[in-house]
Amino acid sequence: MKTEIVEGWPQGHEIRILISETDASQVNAIRRALIADVPKLAITRVDFSQGVTQDNKGEVVESVNVLPDEVLAHRLAMIPIPTSQDEGLVFPDQCKNCMDVVEKDKGCPMCQVLYTLSARGPSTDAEEDFKTVYAGDITTISDPVFDIRDEHKQIPLTVLAKGQFLEFYAFAVLGRGRDHAKWSPAAAVGFRPHRVAVLNKPKKAAALFDLGLTTTDGTPIDAKLFGKDKKITNVNHVLDLEKALHQVGEGTGRENDFDDAITMEAVEGAYVFSFETDGSLDPVTAFNLALNELSSRFNNLGEEVASALA
Ligand SMILES: [Zn+2]
Repeated sequence: MKTEIVEGWPQGHEIRILISETDASQVNAIRRALIADVPKLAITRVDFSQGVTQDNKGEVVESVNVLPDEVLAHRLAMIPIPTSQDEGLVFPDQCKNCMDVVEKDKGCPMCQVLYTLSARGPSTDAEEDFKTVYAGDITTISDPVFDIRDEHKQIPLTVLAKGQFLEFYAFAVLGRGRDHAKWSPAAAVGFRPHRVAVLNKPKKAAALFDLGLTTTDGTPIDAKLFGKDKKITNVNHVLDLEKALHQVGEGTGRENDFDDAITMEAVEGAYVFSFETDGSLDPVTAFNLALNELSSRFNNLGEEVASALA
């Protein structure tokens, strides 16, 4: 199997990868590993402060909230937590310190990341009635590498009214998507056969070229795009062309003029794989981790089969 990042990618957290010398079942195994097996951090436990307190101005605030605690805990679980591979975090069930202790004592700097938040609604004399609490209000107690990323700081968590406060400690641990979706690092994971566009009838293709369409990078869709050998192999351009062909396809009234002037030829054993991460991992790291997960699993399987046969 060969893999190659398509030119111009990754863009943000999205990526396209050309995988060749393979078959659909292998590519699908990578897809499933990305969704279910690649480990990432997510908040899995929240300790809320409860009760009534008085601040230094004598104002009384209470821990009542418009959202139930469990809904808030769920929202916290969905915040992408930056998952740095270099910090040497381990899964809670593999942590030397926590493996053999009772449930309530589990959790140490080796296996969890700690966050806290302390917010209160507007003061009694304030003009506004509500204050929104954002993911950006969360403070990291552990290493700053785990700080919520700037792009996720605008995620709203809840609103607080006058006289309300919200205070909690939140614990993030490593997990896998197969146990809970909050640990799934990638979304929109898909693949399609890699194809090459072939210009068969340059004159008839005018039905498409005269529409003045362009590719996503702004290149005009015309005969020049096909080059001397009358073919497009560039993955991005092929995908853009596929979309453009809908303008001359069945039901458009242009299909007779166009007369299959351009056709798509599948490249055997090659697939265009695309996905987007939630921001907890960069897409290249996530893809490599998926391949590692697969290879370690198949090695283990090999050992098991060997011992079963011995
Ligand atoms: Zn631990």
